[in-house]
Amino acid sequence: MGVTFPTEYGGAGLGHAEYVTILEELARIDGSVALIVSAHNSLCANHIRLTGTEEQKRKYLVPLARGEKLGCWSLTEPGSGSDASAVRTTARLDGGSWVLNGVKNFVTNGHFADTCVLMAMTDSRAGKHGITAFIVEKGTPGFRAGKKENKLGLRASDTAELIFEDCRIPRENCLGQPGEGFVDCLRVIDKGRIGIAAIAVGIAQGAFEASLAYSRERKAFGKPIAEFQAIQWKLADMATEIEAARLLTQRAAWLADHGRRVTRASSMAKLYAGEVAVRVTNEAVQVHGGYGFIKDYPVEKFYRDVKLCTIGEGTSEIQRMVIARELLRPH
Ligand SMILES: Cc1cc2nc3c(=O)[nH]c(=O)nc-3n(C[C@H](O)[C@H](O)[C@H](O)COP(=O)(O)OP(=O)(O)OC[C@H]3O[C@@H](n4cnc5c(N)ncnc54)[C@H](O)[C@@H]3O)c2cc1C
Repeated sequence: MGVTFPTEYGGAGLGHAEYVTILEELARIDGSVALIVSAHNSLCANHIRLTGTEEQKRKYLVPLARGEKLGCWSLTEPGSGSDASAVRTTARLDGGSWVLNGVKNFVTNGHFADTCVLMAMTDSRAGKHGITAFIVEKGTPGFRAGKKENKLGLRASDTAELIFEDCRIPRENCLGQPGEGFVDCLRVIDKGRIGIAAIAVGIAQGAFEASLAYSRERKAFGKPIAEFQAIQWKLADMATEIEAARLLTQRAAWLADHGRRVTRASSMAKLYAGEVAVRVTNEAVQVHGGYGFIKDYPVEKFYRDVKLCTIGEGTSEIQRMVIARELLRPH
């Protein structure tokens, strides 16, 4: 739970290369577990590591990185998803406290997290430069988790609404500089997208392995279906696309580990890996025939779980916008 954080903050002191391997291996079996780990590491804990004071890191990052506490990260609201700067949750200073009001939604780990990093508007006249990040602890009066979402896939991962009603938090729980929350989110998500790419690769790999094994076992017209060229070509395309997605993901991780800018590489990895994984899981169901549609086999779950990879932490459309913006950026 603290893969990339320094050992002095309770982390494992590993790099993004190891992080993507861990997420891929988890997602190969269960995407939900991988998503729990990635929201905790990439989003909540990493936001605190990137922008927190030394005191905040000691108090909040250390127990998160040690896996003693669970984190969540809350940017999205009912009216603000891709247009992430349209935040309506407010925070106002009142004496020595910030007072939070509003509703956030689609928060991974929301019902179970001990530590929540959330974005709120502190100066609506400043637009996205009026957004500030805060740390709120579970049990703070005025803060509660609301509706649990009933999802298509990743059903073992909690997705919650968070409600703030005159929730008072100490002034020192402001994370980063006031008004810098949105820009900091972009830095956090830049790395977070590498994690979603790794989850996509893992789910695709799991679906591919199940298909390979099934194609050797299942017989039709007196021979294993693996002997039909139509099935062989599906397997060949699946394996090739997974390998390409994995290499893009590992390259983005390598750039992150070498302190390089990752905006373009992480969006490319997430876009490609997410779309490949949707194609691969679709073909995996096809290779299984009717049994692919039945819950006794794992591929129907991979097929449902994977769709989040083209939506969460920026949809495929948003990734294309980011990549195009990066390509057209003046040098
Ligand atoms: C299971 C799950 C877990 C999540 N976990 C978290 C979390 O932990 N924390 C958090 O803050 N959020 C989380 N999210 C929210 C997620 O990041 C958003 O759902 C996502 O960014 C899309 O926002 P939206 O749902 O509002 O879609 P919208 O922004 O309403 O998009 C609808 C459609 O319009 C397209 N679109 C929007 N704007 C443009 C544009 N400018 N150009 C072209 N197309 C556009 C989109 O690509 C999409 O196809 C989670 C979501 C899910 C489903």
